[in-house]
Order: sequence, then C-alpha cells, then structure tokens
Amino acid sequence: MDFSITADQAAQIERLRVLGREHMRPAGWRADRAGAPLPPDDAFFTRMLAEGFGRTRWRPHGSAASAAAAPNKAASAVTQVLLAEEGAYWDRGIGVALPGPGLGEPAILSMGTPEQQQRFLAPFVDPAKPIWGAFAMTEPSGGSDVANIKTRARRDGDDWVLDGAKSFSGNSGRAQWIVVFATIDPALGRAGHRAFVVERGTPGLTDFRIEKKMGLKAYESTSFFLTGCRVPHANLLGGEAYYQQRSGGFKGAMNTFNAGRPAIAGMAVGIGRAALDEAVQVMQAQGLWSDQRLRDRLERHRRKLKGALLLALKAAWLADQRQPNMLEASAAKAMAPPAAFDATAFAMEVLGLAGGAGEHLIEKLFRDVKALDIVEGTGQIQRVVMSRHLVGLPN
Ligand SMILES: Cc1cc2nc3c(=O)[nH]c(=O)nc-3n(C[C@H](O)[C@H](O)[C@H](O)COP(=O)(O)OP(=O)(O)OC[C@H]3O[C@@H](n4cnc5c(N)ncnc54)[C@H](O)[C@@H]3O)c2cc1C
Repeated sequence: MDFSITADQAAQIERLRVLGREHMRPAGWRADRAGAPLPPDDAFFTRMLAEGFGRTRWRPHGSAASAAAAPNKAASAVTQVLLAEEGAYWDRGIGVALPGPGLGEPAILSMGTPEQQQRFLAPFVDPAKPIWGAFAMTEPSGGSDVANIKTRARRDGDDWVLDGAKSFSGNSGRAQWIVVFATIDPALGRAGHRAFVVERGTPGLTDFRIEKKMGLKAYESTSFFLTGCRVPHANLLGGEAYYQQRSGGFKGAMNTFNAGRPAIAGMAVGIGRAALDEAVQVMQAQGLWSDQRLRDRLERHRRKLKGALLLALKAAWLADQRQPNMLEASAAKAMAPPAAFDATAFAMEVLGLAGGAGEHLIEKLFRDVKALDIVEGTGQIQRVVMSRHLVGLPN
C-alpha cells in the first residue's frame, strides 16, 4: 500500500482547504447560531454551485464526456477519505447540506437501469440552480435493523403503492427525488426489499418535518410519511429483474453503506483534528502548553486520530483494489468516531468554563461529532458485524 498523496490529491485538498476556511466553516457556523438548516435559496449554495459542487459523477453512457471523464466512477475511495477528512475539518454539516444527488446517487448508480440513471441524474450534470437528491432507509421504529424495514410496497397495475414512514433522511424535504426503500413482504426479509425513486410532489408523499438535532444543524434531517403514495413501476430501481437476480434491494443498500464507511471515519477524524487544533490555540493563549500532562494527552488524542485515519485509508485502498473491505471498513467506522469524540471532549476540558457558554467552535464540534458514531451503521452495529465474522457467523 502506497501512503503517498498524489499531486492531484494534494491540489484537491488544498482547494477544499481554501473553500472550507473562506466559505464552509462560516456558513456552518451561521446555521449553528441560527439553530436551523440553511434555506435552499441561501447564497452560499449558489456560490458553491459556481465552484463546481452539486453535480453528479454520472455521464450518459457512450458520450464523449463520459469517455473523457471516466464515466460513472467516483473519485478513488482513498481520495474520498482524504477529502472527507479535510471537508469535515471545516464543517461536516455544511458538507452534507451541499446540493447534489447525495446518498441517493450511489443507489441509483449501482441499482438503476441506464434509463433511470439518465432520468434522475441528468438534471445534476450541469444544474442551473442548486438541487438535491436524498436517500431514505431509516424508519421511526429504528434504523439499525435495516433488514426489517416496515414501509410496504404493493404492486397495483402499472404503479406501486407505498405506505409507511421514514425518518432522519438528509435533505429529503428539499429534494427533487428520494430513493425510498420498502418491502413487498416483511416475511421475506432482505429478499423482500425494493428501492423506489419517489419524485417531489408525488401525491401521498407528505408531512415533511425537520428533526431537531444537537449538532450538524446546517443540513435538514427530515421525517416524512408515504400514504397511499403511487409511484410508477418505471421508478422501481433496476426493474423487477434486478431483484430476482440479487435477493432483493438489501444488497444495493448495503453496497451504498460499505462505500461510505471509510469516508465517515475520515469525517470523524477531521472533526477531531479541528478540535485539537482549536485546543492548541487555547493552550497557547492561556499558557497551558507548559503543562506536560496536557501535552501528553494532546499527543495521545492526535495519535489515536492518526491511527483511525490510517485504518480508514486501508479500508479505502482495499475498495480501490476491488478487494473485500468489510472488516476494515467496519473497524474504521467503529474506531474513528469514538477517537474523535474523545478528542473533542479533551478540547472542551482545555476550554474550561468557556465551553459551557456555547460560544466557542470547540463546543460546536463537540455536538457535531456524536452523529458520526450513528450514521451509516452505529458503532455497536459495526462491532456486531466484526464479532460475528470473528467466530464465523454469517452477516
Ligand atoms: C445526523 C443523522 C443523519 C442521518 N441521515 C440519514 C439519511 O440520510 N438516511 C437514512 O435513511 N437514515 C439516516 N440517519 C439514520 C441513521 O442511519 C440511524 O440513526 C442509524 O441507523 C441508527 O438507527 P436508530 O437511530 O433508529 O437507532 P436504533 O436502531 O433504534 O438503535 C438504538 C441503539 O441500539 C443499538 N443497537 C441496535 N441494534 C443493536 C444490536 N443488534 N446489538 C447492539 N446494539 C444495537 C444501536 O447501536 C443504538 O445505539 C441519520 C441519522 C443521523 C443521526
């Protein structure tokens, strides 16, 4: 494994650093102070669109653009981890708030037919204004037991009728479409899963409500209901054939998750690094850096973050080599958020009473970091996955 950062990666990181310092952190801070997500027409989003954000990596099959731009391929997983770490250093919430197809994109790319990819992703190739896509798996009854989702899908002629509730879906209230997972029969478990693209304004897609969050306030996490929500069969991702071949949509969802775990680990490390950098500034300003015990603790947190990042990079590198990375991805996801949480808690201690006043960036980072242990499979669930593997049980 090669640990060197290529010139191209270094340039991308540097560009993100500048944008992060000048635009992303101030915007995230503004949303946090307001206690609400930035509205879709906020000038920040237009600005970031002009900087090239908010676009899909999908290109029409066979187009000249696709041949030149390596069609439908994400940046390497290693690059994604490096950029996730740098982006979250400046503001993780604002990174998710950015326009674009979001978590729905990998699901459409991995499961969708070429026609569906064209229909749902083409608007994101060069959008005239900021637009969003979203992904909804989690339900009010719980998000960890993904195999047991309760939202029902019933075929009715040329349509499907969806009934159920979804929660904590990022950006879904402002999205053009939401990739919604439902089951045709709960008794079938994973084999019963189907993924639908539910378009904005579809009758029965109702009651959007922005959830309250302790951190990451810059983007909306939204709950909504599907009540007799009629979706054309053409919006069943992959068509029926996809599910006959692959035991339901569950694998599609899991692919989406596995691609994201090393990047989530990177984001946690980025938040932890930001907290430690802030802590160093406080230590310098208050003359605390002469305290060997504090320096020792600072170094220990830095070391744990570095170790977690190396593990995330290993998991990403395996993905880039098309080698199984489930264990490494789970280990990185299990390790990085607690390390980052401890780092922000240490920074809060350094800050002392000022932390309680809620006016310092460290306090915001302390609230932001917790979600990283929850999203895309909690720390406990990662440990369940790894421990089952250790004793040879199937996942
Ligand atoms: C900021 C944020 C953004 C999110 N964005 C999205 C999104 O865009 N789309 C989406 O679909 N979802 C999203 N989610 C939901 C997220 O995926 C779920 O919160 C997560 O899967 C956990 O589900 P839960 O919160 O319902 O907890 P539960 O599943 O109810 O679990 C509760 C607790 O029990 C533990 N637990 C559960 N089962 C076990 C077990 N077998 N062994 C040991 N411990 C267990 C869990 O680790 C957790 O600590 C988001 C969540 C947050 C906080």
